[in-house]
Amino acid sequence: MKELGVTWAKFATCLDPARPDEFADLRPYMEPLREAGIRVVIDTRTTPTLLSEEMRRLVKEHGQDGFDALAGAQSRIGEAVGNLVAFHAGLCDDWEWWGEPDCPLINQMGFTGLDWATLMTVIQPYVRKANPIARWWTGGIGVLCDVNWMKKVLERSCTACGIRLDERLDVCPAPECDGRARAALHDQFDVMNLHHYVHERHSLEWVLNKYAHMFRWVRKAIDENCLGQPIASTEWGMSTWPKVHIEDPSFEGFTSQVFSGGAGALSYEDAPEWFDECLNLFHHYDMKVVMIDKLRDTPRGKGDTHWGVWTGLIKPNGERKPHYKVIQHYAHQGQQESERWEPEVVEKPEEVVA
Ligand SMILES: [Zn+2]
Repeated sequence: MKELGVTWAKFATCLDPARPDEFADLRPYMEPLREAGIRVVIDTRTTPTLLSEEMRRLVKEHGQDGFDALAGAQSRIGEAVGNLVAFHAGLCDDWEWWGEPDCPLINQMGFTGLDWATLMTVIQPYVRKANPIARWWTGGIGVLCDVNWMKKVLERSCTACGIRLDERLDVCPAPECDGRARAALHDQFDVMNLHHYVHERHSLEWVLNKYAHMFRWVRKAIDENCLGQPIASTEWGMSTWPKVHIEDPSFEGFTSQVFSGGAGALSYEDAPEWFDECLNLFHHYDMKVVMIDKLRDTPRGKGDTHWGVWTGLIKPNGERKPHYKVIQHYAHQGQQESERWEPEVVEKPEEVVA
């Protein structure tokens, strides 16, 4: 890890709000990392179907009032997250809420972008109370950032009367209301996190163009609707395999959970250029942290073709892949920059304190 230049690492865990004091103890894994100066982000969520099940149950019991009753479930989730954060305080100050909330497979159709923004808002005070210096990261928005999903996250409403407002309005047009328009997600997060995987099969030129558009859009959206929070990534990478071309993979499969045609993959030969060009672009757009999906390929069995198995920097036999050196180069460059990035906790601006 030291030789590679690792400065951040990520863990993932799952909570059951019905048992708010029961969660995995991640301290034994985190202690050696902290001793080595490596910071940790923990990505947490509830048991996958909890929200959709809770929503269906409440709507069945209470009709439309069920949507109000969901607030109870949200505060239970907040308490459960608070317990987890307090337990790991001193070892982890960075918490990610629900990695890839925009993926229908991951959100289990339990919530929209707006619901997710509401959860970020409801849980944030519990996180702060549990650890006042904790930073609250958005769950990484997946696959080159889904702009339509993000628009729901940024949906505006009136700070005084609460009505939904058109995105072009800065002030509430309701008679005798002096409220202002504010996005659903505004000051309730400290770091905008992307899981910006290249997932479909495209050329390097297409990918770089798409990334440039994505960064410009996200930067503008955060500057205009939020508080200009920094952008980072707790997950990124590309599958690599000895002989494969991104547009014509000879390794059958690279099965994707999103695209029926499979996910993109690179040959060992092409990978260094792709990683170099992409990381250079991320640096250009001031991405503060990029965490590579995994260190080592992890085939689970013969014929395992899932793309995520092959995103490692090291082959299953321990041999380094050719792009290992590229990652090492950028990691050391990041370490050497005079100020190592310390994310700040966002202070609520006075005018929006309700
Ligand atoms: Zn209003």
